[in-house]
This record gives sequence, structure tokens and C-alpha cells, in this order.
Amino acid sequence: MGKWMMLILAAALALAGLTCRASAPGRGDRMDLTKPDLESLRVRRARFADVEITVDPARIAPEDRAALPHLIRAAQSMGRLFWRQASPTGTELRREVAARADATGDEAWRVLRDLIDIHAGPWDRLDHDAPFYGRDAKPSGGTFYPPDMTVAEFERWIAAHPEDRESFQSGFTVIRRSGDRLVAVPYATEYRDELAVAADALRRAADATGDTALATYLRARADAFASNEYFDSDMAWMDLGIGDRGRPSAIDMTLGPYEVYEDKLFNLKTAFEAFVTLTDPVETEKLARLSGMLDALEANLPIDDRHKNFARGTASPIRVVNVVFTAGDTAAGVQTLAFNLPNDERVRQAKGSKKVMLKNVGEAKFHGILEPIAAVVLVPQLLADVGFDAYFNFILMHEISHGLGPGFLSLPDGTQTTVNLVLKETYSAIEECKADTLGVYNTLHLIDTGFLPEELRARTGATYLAGLFRSVRFGVGEAHGKSNIMQYNFLKTFGAITHDPGTGRFGLDPARFAEGIQALSRRMLEIQALGDLEGARAFIAEFGGMPDEVAAALDRLGHVPVDIRPTYTLARRLLAE
Ligand SMILES: [Zn+2]
Repeated sequence: MGKWMMLILAAALALAGLTCRASAPGRGDRMDLTKPDLESLRVRRARFADVEITVDPARIAPEDRAALPHLIRAAQSMGRLFWRQASPTGTELRREVAARADATGDEAWRVLRDLIDIHAGPWDRLDHDAPFYGRDAKPSGGTFYPPDMTVAEFERWIAAHPEDRESFQSGFTVIRRSGDRLVAVPYATEYRDELAVAADALRRAADATGDTALATYLRARADAFASNEYFDSDMAWMDLGIGDRGRPSAIDMTLGPYEVYEDKLFNLKTAFEAFVTLTDPVETEKLARLSGMLDALEANLPIDDRHKNFARGTASPIRVVNVVFTAGDTAAGVQTLAFNLPNDERVRQAKGSKKVMLKNVGEAKFHGILEPIAAVVLVPQLLADVGFDAYFNFILMHEISHGLGPGFLSLPDGTQTTVNLVLKETYSAIEECKADTLGVYNTLHLIDTGFLPEELRARTGATYLAGLFRSVRFGVGEAHGKSNIMQYNFLKTFGAITHDPGTGRFGLDPARFAEGIQALSRRMLEIQALGDLEGARAFIAEFGGMPDEVAAALDRLGHVPVDIRPTYTLARRLLAE
């Protein structure tokens, strides 16, 4: 353990109000923990429905089956790394609480352990990161930055040391103090030990699998953990899932540092996560037809032609998969339904991006959460239109829409940059809002052109409206939740969403709905195309707040779980074998 790490850990423990019985923190010390209050924890725990998620093992080729336990172990490494990134104390707290739960069998400790598992620390991701154990605020920058570093200090440092700009803004470095300097430390150095464990597991899996593309990706990613250069393995990941004989390969694996949501200071630093999945060949083939239409969708965007971006990659594949196991960023709080990677604009320029949809997770959420929500919040005449087909299609179109629109920017002073750098802390909410509204916009366009069936029109509106309430329940402190409340407020103001004060239920004006979606899509695209940070902040200030009628509707959803807490039964069995 480096000296700075000792200092940070000691400072963090002091901040957290946790004391160690020994004089210095380290393995084997015991935290002094107050017994948790069961009743308040029960309420938070009930927000997650326990579900079992599995995949039929009969569909797995024997050599892939041999690779899976290694991949699950590599994923577990990503989980441990994510916990280290999320907070300085989470891992140790989890260990101490689990020990008490095991020793006493007491329900309060068990529920606390579950909640810490769900949120990767003692802060409720559904409740603005409010602490549910202890009183200390979650560090906005996780452990990516020194705990006492401010945004202003970081920006001052870069201004005074332009040679440090690239390494400081890298998604694959942490920022530390060295004397009175700030320094960027590569992930390969900071997380060396755990990354070596993961790399070893990936190479074993590569040796076991019969899928050449998969083995190539796994070895490239193992190399990236040591070199800190992720470009080659991101490129190899784009080729994954094609298979050796022109059929989708059985395993589709995603593992490494990816999303920046955990870095709430700058949205710069990537968090570790892993998805171990098996492709759904029938759905993948059906949906891949859409990937040939990306240029047509870009051309149809409701924005000035000069902002359209046809160079962003045209052969973006779409995968529909079923999850065997997940860990890290994606497993914390709300479970990912679909994603679009990689985020590296250089890879997206060369190869586009790959959309991965997690179908078995989506089905579990639809029946467990969205249907019960719709029954409470929608006007009765919309209920028959809420369906899994529209839900699945909307998720697909959301992911496709992340890959449309501006990515690279040229600023008026000639600087070349990217949308996420310019939009800073507003980027995630703006980008998610863009993907949602364009998801509907593109669906309606594909219905107009006959690619999608007409009956999907009404089902898309009703299912989208119910989905807003599902997402807003995540809390508006998180990018997806904020994005959804922005959509609600904009569309309500526009006259697209209607509210009956008598029943408290919500409906749609179909004509205004299509217009409102187009107007909001244009607004998001213009903010991105112009790199309009002040415009983004103004929009969020105007539309990012929770209105009374939505708060009242959310109060009536108290009995409906907010998300699922999956148990991956096949993974558990494979690890036990
Ligand atoms: Zn998204």
C-alpha cells in the first residue's frame, strides 16, 4: 500500500466516522459498527424485487462451457475493482457487515449487507446517494481523485500545466497528490494486482474457447490491463459475436473500464464492469437488419444538415443477448437493460459502436415493474397498449440513437474536441435524453416508412409514457432519472402529456406527442452540435425538477419495486462445479 493510499484511507475513515481498533487501518482490523435500524432498511430493500435470471445451458457448446467459469471469475475481479473506485471504505464495510450477518444471523445485519451489495457501498443510488448507514456523504469523485480536491483545483492545474491535460482527462487514470503536485496514475499501475488476476482468468478462458474472435478479444483485453492501452481490445470487441462460421458465437463478453457515471465530478473516469452473456441468434439476426439503416436515420435527424455526422461508423452491429453474469458498475443499483459501447470516439469513427441488449433482464423488468406501474399511473384506455414488444423495440432504438448525432466537435476557435468534454457534468443527462427522444422519433419514422408495423405506434407512446415513471423513480440525481424528468416536463409543457387531476392519471395527445418528441430531439442535438454548455445547464435548470403531480403519482407506486436484484443461477452452478 502506497503512502498516499494510507493517507487517503485514514482520512476517509476519519471522515466516515468509522474507527479502527488498531492504530493503523489494514487487513484484520475491526470497524466499530453501530447495529443498523431494521425498519428503515427494510423499506429500501423492498425497492428491489429478487429475481432469478438464467440461460438454458443446453445451448452452450462444450468448449464455451469450459470457458465460462474463467470469464465469471474475471468478471468478479471487475466487481472488486469497481468497489474500490466507488468509495474508499465500501469494500471493508461490506466485509465487516457480512461477518456480523453470518455470525449473528440477525436480520438487520443481513438486510444491511444486501443493501450494501446492491448499491456497492452505504449510499442509496435510488435516493440521491443518501447514506443508509452512517451519515457521511458519498465522495462525488469516488476514489478517482484526492478526497479534498475541488473541481476548480483540477481545472487550475490543467490550465497551468497544459502538458498534463491529456493524461488528466484520460478515462484510464486516477488523480493523486504527490507532495504539492497533482499527478495522473494509470489504471495499469493503480489497480495492478487485481488486473493481473483478471488477465490470467481471461487468458485461461481464451485457451478453453473454440471461438477465435472471442479468444482474440480476451487476450487483447488481458494485454490492455497491463499496457493501459484499450484501443486494440476495443477494436477486437467490435468483431466479437460474429463467430467463426458466419453464425453468432455463443459467448458475447464485455469487460473492462467503460462508463463514466460514477465520476460525478467530471464524467471523465471510467468504472470497471463486466457482462458475461450468450447471444440470442434469432433476435440478433432480426434486429441486425436495422443496422443497415443508420445512414438513413442520421439523414432524418431533426437538425441542420451541417451537423449530421455520417462518418461516425455505418456498420454498427446489434446484439441481443441473455445474461449469464454481471459485475461492477452495471451491477450496482439499477440493472442495465442495454448498452452501446465502446465510448472511445476513435473506435466509433473506425468501426461504429456495438449495441448489446439484455433480453432476459428486460423481460424480468417489464413484467415485474413496468406493467404494475402502468396500471397505477396511465389512463385506462392506454393500458392495453403497454407491451413487451414496444418496450424491447424502444430499448433497441434508444441504443441505436446513442450512435447518431454529434460526437467530435470543432469549436469556433479551431479546437478539436468531443461533445462529452465540452458538456462536462451535463453530458450524461443530455446524452440519455437525446437517446430516449430519438428512440421514439426514429421508431415513429420507421413506422411511417413501413419498416415497423403500424400497431407499434400507439404501443410505443403508451409504453414510453409508463417507462418515464419507471425511470424517474431512480431519482433525479442520476443521469437516466434526470433525463426522464426533463422529458416529462418538456412534453407536459408542450401539451403532449396530459394529466387528469381528478384521477391523478396520465395520458397522451397523439398528435402533440410526435411534435413534442421532435422538438425535444432537436433541442438536445443542437446543444450537442454547438457544444452549448450554458444551454445545457439552462435546460436542466428549467426542466430538471420534479413536478408535484409526478411526485404524487410516485407516492402511489410505493408497493411496486423500483428495480430487480438478480441471482444468476447458471453462474452460481458453473462456479460450484
Ligand atoms: Zn442510454
